[in-house]
Amino acid sequence: MPESKGEGRCLCDAVQVVVEAMSNKVGACHCSTCRKWCGGPYMAIDCGTEVSFQGEDQIRVFDSSEWAERGFCQNCGTHLFYRLKENQRYYMPADLFDEGPELVFDSQVFIEDKPRYYCFANTTKEMTGAESFAEYGGGEE
Ligand SMILES: [Zn+2]
Ligand SMILES: [Zn+2]
Repeated sequence: MPESKGEGRCLCDAVQVVVEAMSNKVGACHCSTCRKWCGGPYMAIDCGTEVSFQGEDQIRVFDSSEWAERGFCQNCGTHLFYRLKENQRYYMPADLFDEGPELVFDSQVFIEDKPRYYCFANTTKEMTGAESFAEYGGGEE
């Protein structure tokens, strides 16, 4: 898997992020929590665990489930991350990044929760929620 450094920032510039080794693969999550949070599917990138922030005091973290939490800028509301509690692994929004690898949209998870009003034309791997928990972690104990 190609991995490279990524740099991003929120809309108001209060929070800046540096990822040491991010994937170039974008996955869409159609679960109801992501759709409520984003106002649409969450276009996320696996950013591993080596993530550092500037302006950390502007980050608010919402405890969204037993297994994960979600961070956002308290000033401008930009979504910053979905983080697994178990291993502190970050999944960050694709378009948070100004510098990083060229991205490929290659998977969709919680496909059974996707509403009918939209459908991506991209050819991607598709997984159910149960399959994605098995592959990436999270889910009920
Ligand atoms: Zn901000
Ligand atoms: Zn989701």
